[in-house]
Amino acid sequence: MTVEAKERVYLNYINGEWTASSSGQTKSNVNPANVEEVVGVVQSSTGEDLDRAVAAAKAAQKAWRKLSGPARGELLYKAANIMESRLGEIAQTMTKEMGKTFPEAKGETARGVALLRYYAGEGSRKVGDVIPASDSQGLMFTTRVPLGVVGVITPWNFPVAIPIWKMAPALIYGNTVVFKPAHEAGVTATKIIECFAEAGFPAGVVNFILGPGSVIGQGIIDHPDIAGITFTGSDYTGKRIAQGALARGAKYQLEMGGKNPVIVLNDADLDQAADATISGAFRSTGQKCTATSRVIVQSGIYEQFKDKLISKLKEIKIGDGMQADTWMGPCASESQMKTVLSYIEKGKEEGAKPIFGGGRLSGGEYDKGYFVEPTVFERVSPNMAIVREEIFGPVVAMMKFDEVEEGIRMANDSEFGLSASIFTKNIGVMLEFIQDMEAGLVRINAESAGVELQAPFGGMKQSSSHSREQGQAAIEFYTSIKTVFVKP
Ligand code: NAD
Repeated sequence: MTVEAKERVYLNYINGEWTASSSGQTKSNVNPANVEEVVGVVQSSTGEDLDRAVAAAKAAQKAWRKLSGPARGELLYKAANIMESRLGEIAQTMTKEMGKTFPEAKGETARGVALLRYYAGEGSRKVGDVIPASDSQGLMFTTRVPLGVVGVITPWNFPVAIPIWKMAPALIYGNTVVFKPAHEAGVTATKIIECFAEAGFPAGVVNFILGPGSVIGQGIIDHPDIAGITFTGSDYTGKRIAQGALARGAKYQLEMGGKNPVIVLNDADLDQAADATISGAFRSTGQKCTATSRVIVQSGIYEQFKDKLISKLKEIKIGDGMQADTWMGPCASESQMKTVLSYIEKGKEEGAKPIFGGGRLSGGEYDKGYFVEPTVFERVSPNMAIVREEIFGPVVAMMKFDEVEEGIRMANDSEFGLSASIFTKNIGVMLEFIQDMEAGLVRINAESAGVELQAPFGGMKQSSSHSREQGQAAIEFYTSIKTVFVKP
């Protein structure tokens, strides 16, 4: 498709100007709930475009770093107000572009606004400590300095919140940014950048470039002028980023996949647990890194819990996320749907039994989109692909255990360690779970998905590079500590 397409064409934003890719190539993004609707046309950029974006970010960095923290914060507050005034429009774009329901998209956009305000405030908070020097006349203290140019590479599943929880701290601590979102969320990402542009950030401070991961993503990994790379996405891409960044000594931060368990004990409030399992597993069509994908249930209530889960699942309305009664939307793209369906088939082939769902939805409006049934498997064994690998779709595997220790051991039997939850009334078991569960986020009597912007977020094991994002933890990645000694 060329830039003459009749749909609205969205541009890159480099050095304060909206510009087309030097390749002249573009890509159309369609609505996964109705593939006949083109949501917008985004750029397919080249290494040359990336070089210009990095050069602009590098040139702007010194003046940006020299602005005071509160002055940088003022610009983030402005961007927050602009985004808030456009909340409904941005959320609608998100729903149409990647399928999550409109209420979820509004919630996420409001989260983006709150993140901008939180990090705007960070511009006025402390950045160092005074440490007693061995020379009694000397003054020793630490301060924080920005990395320089930060490359931001993001997935499509939280197209507003993730870019903002990376860009806002990068900017407030004095870095400039080159942002490459997933193309599947390119129109939504453009709207975030419009808010930054309108807020009046100096040219070159925020640069935005759309293009293939293999070109622009790889270019960010390799670029000698990018000092730090922050990435959220798949395990596979994350490992490439780590290797590339390590090879040239760049700082990097990775947030990757999950295979998050919920453990339901005999003494749990079963309605609460079933509601939370459904919400954790199937909201956003299971496309959250913190989504519940393994349901580990104590034998005494297994059948009863299963019946509750199934009867509640029957109430779920699946459809276009813009319709008021839709609870679950489509998969975000055709390739995502194909991946999910292939896992469902693999589960069947390996001998697991689907007790709910298990296929693509068809007929009527479903024929126009990428709709998959919420799917529950039982009779699974620990080595099956649906138990071990991240599916990133509306599929869960149910397993049974007898003793609490066994349940926690099963929950830990994964290469991932992002989030986990447990349902019980027993405080001793809660404490055991908090201690023994290998996950960066553990939640008691609450679903596995649920991240708060003021608290550190990140995974253990293969889910992360062991760094943390959000809250005040963000300063650790986006700055370096400088220790200063002054002798008058
Ligand atoms: P992905 O890894 O395919 O893509 C993520 C980003 O990396 C995109 O912008 C993509 O263009 C880019 N990319 C692709 N190839 C690249 C390369 N060779 N070099 C550099 N960049 C490249 O992931 P996705 O499918 O967009 O997102 C889904 C994944 O994201 C899931 O695994 C999910 O668990 C994970 N995720 C993790 C978190 C978290 O915080 N842990 C949050 C959301 C999503």
